[in-house]
Amino acid sequence: MTWTPADRAEADVLAYVLLREIAKHRERCADCAVAGSAIYCRRVDRAIREALEWAQLRALLTRATWLAREEETAA
Ligand SMILES: [Zn+2]
Repeated sequence: MTWTPADRAEADVLAYVLLREIAKHRERCADCAVAGSAIYCRRVDRAIREALEWAQLRALLTRATWLAREEETAA
């Protein structure tokens, strides 16, 4: 078990906030406007990468917590 419903709920919030902020950013970012509607500037790329990294770290943390609990139960 590496990903719980609680993790998914957190990820849903993160995805919503990320997309909302990207939309707001694009309204006022000159670089995004120049790049065109299908291309984002580096700041948006970085935000997406950080969100993906968070999801990965969250899954690892949940797994570690679950394994620690399993060890406690087995002891
Ligand atoms: Zn931008």
